[in-house]
Amino acid sequence: MLDGREYRITVIGAGPAGAAAAISAAAMSMEVDWYDKENRPGGKLNDYHQLFPDRATADQILADFDGRTDAIEIKKHFGTAVNRIETDNRQLILLSDNKIVGSADAVIVATGFDFFDARLKEEFGYGIYDHVITSPDLEKILKTNPEDLRKEGADPVSIAFVHCVGSRDQQAGINYCSRLCCITGIRQAIGIKELFPSCKVVNFYIDIRAFGSGYEELYREAQEKYKIQFIRGRVSEASENQQHRILLKAEDTLMARPLKLTVDWLVLLVGMVPSCTQVQIDNHQCTDQETGFYQPVNVFTGSRIAGLPGIFMAGACGGPMSIPEAIASGRSAAMEAWQYLKDR
Ligand SMILES: Cc1cc2nc3c(=O)[nH]c(=O)nc-3n(C[C@H](O)[C@H](O)[C@H](O)COP(=O)(O)OP(=O)(O)OC[C@H]3O[C@@H](n4cnc5c(N)ncnc54)[C@H](O)[C@@H]3O)c2cc1C
Ligand code: SF4
Repeated sequence: MLDGREYRITVIGAGPAGAAAAISAAAMSMEVDWYDKENRPGGKLNDYHQLFPDRATADQILADFDGRTDAIEIKKHFGTAVNRIETDNRQLILLSDNKIVGSADAVIVATGFDFFDARLKEEFGYGIYDHVITSPDLEKILKTNPEDLRKEGADPVSIAFVHCVGSRDQQAGINYCSRLCCITGIRQAIGIKELFPSCKVVNFYIDIRAFGSGYEELYREAQEKYKIQFIRGRVSEASENQQHRILLKAEDTLMARPLKLTVDWLVLLVGMVPSCTQVQIDNHQCTDQETGFYQPVNVFTGSRIAGLPGIFMAGACGGPMSIPEAIASGRSAAMEAWQYLKDR
C-alpha cells in the first residue's frame, strides 16, 4: 500500500489535471494543499457545454470531481494565485503577490492554458463584428443561452467554422497544432445542427486531425448523419454586410478555386497557448523556448519539470491536451511526486 503520510504536497491549479493530481495525492495519504486563482475549481470546464468524444455534459464531469474532492482530505485555498516558487534547501516556498502563502515538500504545477487571442488575426474581424465569435464564446452560448444564436427570432440560416486560428501559423509565431480544435469544431457543428436542423454548417479546415478515441467516428457522423460540410480551404478575409451577415472570402484548396460565402455566424476555432499566469520557479527558464509551455525533464518518462527536483507538471500547462489526457497526467504526476519523496 502507498503511504505518503509524512509528505506535504501542493497542487497549483484546480482544472481537471489539478483535480486528478490532488485526489490521487490525497488517496496516497499525502497532506495536500490545493490552490486556484479562481474562487471555484473546474478550470475551463466551468464554461464548457458538452464534451467530446461522447458528448457528456461538462457539468457531469465537474460534479464527479466535486464529489471526490469533497470526500477526501484536501486543504483548499481557492481565490489565491501562486505566482512564484522558491527553493530553500529541501523546502519549496510558495508566494502569492510576493507574500509567502505556504511551503511544501513537492509541488505539482497544473496551471493550464489560455485561448489564443483571436483579435490578433485581424482579417477575421473578431472584436469588430458581433457575429464573429470564438469556439470558447460559442461554448458559453451553447451552455447558457443557445437562443442567442437566433436572429430576430429566426433560426440561423448558415454558420461557418474556421480551423487553425492561432495554431500552425508562422505569421502568429505559433507553429504547433493545438490538437483539439478540429474535434471541438466537429462537436460544436453537431451541436448547432441538433438545435437548428435546417442551418447550413460549413467547416473550413487545412486538414482534419481527429487523433483520439472516438474522434474519427464523430467526424464521420458529422458528415453522414448531420450533413455538415467540410471544405479544405483557407478563409482569407471576413467582412460584414448591411444585414449584419458575415461575408467570407476563401479558397477551396482541393479544387483550387476561390469561394465567397455569406453566413450568420463565423466561429473561429482558436488554439491553446501558454497561460499568462504561469508560475515562476526561482530564476529558472523552465518553459520551452519555442512554444512557451512547461517542459518535462524527459518527454517519454517524466513529469518532473526540467532541472527542478520536487516540482512536477500536469495537464495543459505542458501543451495542448484533452481532458482524459490531463486527468491521466495529473494522476501520474502525483505518483511520480510520491516516488520522488520516498526516494530522496
Ligand atoms: C474550445 C475548447 C473546447 C474543448 N473541449 C474539450 C472537450 O470537449 N473534451 C476534452 O477532452 N477536452 C476539451 N478541450 C481541452 C480541455 O480544455 C483541456 O484538456 C483541459 O482544460 C486541461 O485541463 P487543465 O487542468 O490542464 O487546465 P485548465 O482547465 O486550464 O485549468 C487550469 C486551472 O489553473 C488555474 N490557474 C492558472 N494559473 C494559476 C496560478 N498562477 N495560481 C493558481 N491557479 C492558477 C486556473 O484558474 C484553472 O482553474 C477543449 C479545449 C478548447 C480550447
Ligand atoms: S487540431 Fe485541427 S484546427 Fe486545431 S490546430 Fe490542429 S489541425 Fe488546426
